[in-house]
Formats: sequence, C-alpha cells, structure tokens
Amino acid sequence: MHGKLIVGNWKMNGSLSANQELVRQIAEGLSDASCRAAVCVPSVYLSQVQQLAASGHLLWGAQDVSAHEQGAFTGEVSAAMLREFGVRFAIVGHSERRQYHGETDALVATKAQRALAAGITPIVCVGETLQEREAGHTESVVKRQLAAVIQTNGHCISEIVVAYEPVWAIGTGKTASPEQAQQVHALLRAQLKAATEQSQRIPLLYGGSMNAANAASLLAQNDIDGGLIGGASLKAADFLSIIAAASP
Ligand code: PEP
Repeated sequence: MHGKLIVGNWKMNGSLSANQELVRQIAEGLSDASCRAAVCVPSVYLSQVQQLAASGHLLWGAQDVSAHEQGAFTGEVSAAMLREFGVRFAIVGHSERRQYHGETDALVATKAQRALAAGITPIVCVGETLQEREAGHTESVVKRQLAAVIQTNGHCISEIVVAYEPVWAIGTGKTASPEQAQQVHALLRAQLKAATEQSQRIPLLYGGSMNAANAASLLAQNDIDGGLIGGASLKAADFLSIIAAASP
C-alpha cells in the first residue's frame, strides 16, 4: 500500500466560489504530503474540481454511483459518466444513503460492481448504529455489509477501499476510540484476508468525526490506513492538519 489515504466527503455542501477557494488551498498545502488525498464532491461540481485539481496531487471522487449502466433512471449518474470527469473514487453505501434512501447491502454491492467496471475505486462504507452497538451486534452488522460486496465482486475485491464508519460517530462529534476503531478494522481485515490473497492492498479507512485533534491517534492504529472525513474536510486548514497527521 502507498502510504495513508485521506478522503474528504463534502456531502451536500459547496458553491462554485467556495469550492474554488477550498480546492486551491488544499492543493497548495498538499505539496509536502506523503499520503494520498482526495475529495468526494457533489456530482454537479465534478467538472469544476477536475479543472482545479487536474494539474496537482489532489484526487477527486463522487459520493454515489448508479447501480444501473444507463437508461431510464431519472436523476441518476452512471459510473461511465463519472469516469468522463476523471473520477478516481466513488463512495458507496454511506450510512446517509442507507438510512435516507433505503439502500440495501445488495444494492451497495451492485454499485461497487458498476464503479469497478468503469475503473473507479468504490469506497465501501460499513458501520453499525448506536442501537446495534449497544445490542452487541457491531461485528455481525459490519461483516454482513462487507460480505455482500465480497460476494458480488469476487476476484475484483482487492481493488476496493473499505471505510468503517460507525453511524453514531458521523457528524455527531463522538469519535470511536482508537481501540474501538482498531478492533473493528481488525475484524474487517480478517474477513478480507479470507476473501483474497491481496487483502493487504485494500485500504481500510476510519470515518466518524475525525478531526485535527484525534486523527494522529486513530491513524496510528495497525489496521487504520486512512480516513473518510466529513465536516472537517470543508475547511482547508482542518483537512490539511489531518493530511499532515497521515504523512509522517
Ligand atoms: C462522513 O460523512 O463520511 C463522515 C465521516 O462525517 P463526519 O466526519 O462529519 O463525521
């Protein structure tokens, strides 16, 4: 694996003018970084971000991808379309998509498959709700979510990125402790190891209120290969501090 991977998820935030400033500052600050960094932006801004970032080290991605190849699917964006804008990553199965749009494990697995077929790396999000954690179901939930993606994607599985995002830690300011996160990452690593000989190639990101203050301790864990960052990716200084923590 080539160093850590830090990915920003802008969610439904941004404007043409704000993006310009944010990408400029991140791109400038990236020059010293030894890790890979990307921003996953709303689809309407992909063209803008492509133009702003094309000549530098910052990579870009989408926050979702259609499970269909093309056709009568109003409002959806296909993997082939994303690819035309130089997209390297597509988040699939973010908890906000699972929760507000009823995305199932099977749908998420198909989305990952569409992305892979178009040469885009899916960032597959898995994670338990607070209720599931308190009921002692964390392991079974994340394993079930990842198993669907492994089953559908077979030998391509070593091309994915996995993000463990406990739902109770997303946008709440509550972060999993480094030990809690490492424990789940180790389970996911073992599951991937059983699925492919190339499991060490698969970056395992932690996401959920990661910020400048807690990034270093999370990223120091054995099986945490990077971060998926929501709120803190919208301020260049905060995002760059996390990138610095990932670039020893
Ligand atoms: C996310 O949305 O993927 C995320 C991790 O959000 P936040 O960092 O704001 O918790």
